[in-house]
Amino acid sequence: MGFIELTVLNNAAQKLAIGIDLGTTNSLGALWKDGHPIVLHPVGEHGYVPSAIYFPEHGPPVVGKAARDRAMLDPAHVLFSVKRFMGRGLKDVATDAAQVPFPIGESENGVIEFEIRGRKYTPEQLSALILMKVHDTSCRAMGGVEVTKCVITVPAYFDEAQRGATRDAARLAGLDVLRIINEPTAASLAYGLDKKKQGNVAVFDLGGGTFDVSILCIEDGVFRVLATSGDTHLGGDDIDRALADWAAEKIAREAKQAPTKDPVFAQVLRLAAERTKQALSSAEHAEFHVSMPETGLHWRTEVSREHLERLSAPLIERALCCCQRAVTDSKLTLKDIDDVVLVGGATRMPLVRRRVQEFFGREPHTDLNPDEVVALGASIQAHVLMGGTRDVLLMDVTPLSLGLETVGGAVAKLIQRNSTIPCQATEGFTTYADNQTGIDFHVVQGERELAKDCRTLGRFRLRGIPPLPAGMARVAVRFHVDANGMLLVTAREETTGAVATIEVKPMNGLSDQEVEHMLREAYLKAREDMDARRVADLRTELGIMLHATRKGLAFAQAELDRETRLDIEEAMAAAEAASRKDDLPAIQRARDTFERATLPLAAVLMDAVAKAALQGRKLDEV
Ligand code: ADP
Ligand code: MG
Repeated sequence: MGFIELTVLNNAAQKLAIGIDLGTTNSLGALWKDGHPIVLHPVGEHGYVPSAIYFPEHGPPVVGKAARDRAMLDPAHVLFSVKRFMGRGLKDVATDAAQVPFPIGESENGVIEFEIRGRKYTPEQLSALILMKVHDTSCRAMGGVEVTKCVITVPAYFDEAQRGATRDAARLAGLDVLRIINEPTAASLAYGLDKKKQGNVAVFDLGGGTFDVSILCIEDGVFRVLATSGDTHLGGDDIDRALADWAAEKIAREAKQAPTKDPVFAQVLRLAAERTKQALSSAEHAEFHVSMPETGLHWRTEVSREHLERLSAPLIERALCCCQRAVTDSKLTLKDIDDVVLVGGATRMPLVRRRVQEFFGREPHTDLNPDEVVALGASIQAHVLMGGTRDVLLMDVTPLSLGLETVGGAVAKLIQRNSTIPCQATEGFTTYADNQTGIDFHVVQGERELAKDCRTLGRFRLRGIPPLPAGMARVAVRFHVDANGMLLVTAREETTGAVATIEVKPMNGLSDQEVEHMLREAYLKAREDMDARRVADLRTELGIMLHATRKGLAFAQAELDRETRLDIEEAMAAAEAASRKDDLPAIQRARDTFERATLPLAAVLMDAVAKAALQGRKLDEV
């Protein structure tokens, strides 16, 4: 992770556009690169920018982490949550205004103005400062490439004035906004839900200070907002506050001198609570410690996840009430919701995940980081608006071979690498054991000889094969790669017509570099791979020979002399032993000896077959 190299700097910049999640608590940039979206963070730094602004006595405002940290020492000159004021009038934001440590007025044309250190700022100007910081961080992450085109996300409930204010902020920051999109839509894009023909999605977004739930409906890749609900004053901060209040009481009881009146104390407690809360998302127990050397306060205690969950439960139930309202408003029922997406850092809490799952009756998507999905989705939209496609690689040839794992673990390649698409290939397979009624197929991709060294594309099972002796069933497997690079694998048993299929996108999530790496690896390991493959194939062959010999012996034992029988048994034991090891010369020798030892048995069996055939003819002649 870290530095992102862009090869063609200036030309590339023209075609790039970043996605920006302009959040109430944190903001973040992302970019589509090599077939998938990535979060932009410079080496050794976080990508996300706390949406906090500090106004020093001299010099320009400071944005981000430095500003947030400053709140500990100088809370009167730090502004949080400016997003709450975007596109609003003073009367809309009375509660929020009360939280701001400096005077707020309104200009003649009804625009909110913050008065700080003798200067006036509009919410747009302040959001522009945050956007500039995100832009700067993103460009540094890209190795200094100057990208000004962007897609910015806003909550689904934002009205035209709020969206307009966001656009204005971007303009002030020198950014060229391709589109403003809804946060829940961006999150759904990040999970690829737009690829569904139809479906309903619930997006549960618990951030720092706000909770939003949106019900979206997808139709042919287009999202429509059916309903939104939420609570503009419910989020991770409230959980921090609950924990901090609990600690404050405990400190007042236990510590000798608790600086309860000190405004810095409240900030220190709040930060300690957030740290503890976050730690409890991955651990069952965590330490809550506060230290204010100047007041002589050093205090620590252990907090269990269970305790935090007890404190946060009522807040989470409030969020679920909003979910119920949104579902009702959307005129859907819980059963109609096909996907649940988690957004916002606070959804990392196990309790939140559990309750959301219980409420919707289905497991939410959690593969992506909930505090990154919105930016990631915005970068996908940005990429598409720049004329890109979401298909990972535009293939006109298959860059890697496609095949199936054989019984011994080797790969049967059906489609060779660099085949022009569309293309197809069919190969016959059969059963390995007597009366085998199902075959498991493992579809792989890559140039290595053993399936375990290739990339798994999918697995499926063909059932309904009629019970037959080993090797008698006829199964045709067809690989078909269409013009879009989709691979459809069909396995069909000839006598019964039983069919099983799987469809996969071979290049999904594979970048050019990864393809290159796979090819290089195959080249470097070619020799040992060939040997490993020979071993795998010989092992399969021996398995089939052993099986046939056992059956043959059962049939024709009486016709063989003792010495031949002993020879065969010895060769069988040696073959079994050799198959268990990975020694190519040994397994080759065992196969040859085995073949020689079973020659007399083969002769006897041939004889028996010939006799039966002759008898058959005689019968016919009668
Ligand atoms: P917003 O969308 O409001 O800008 P975020 O999605 O960045 O905010 O969420 C910020 C919130 O997520 C904060 O309250 C933060 O404490 C919380 N958070 C971040 N990481 C974790 C974690 N590991 N466990 C619990 N909460 C977390
Ligand atoms: Mg957010």
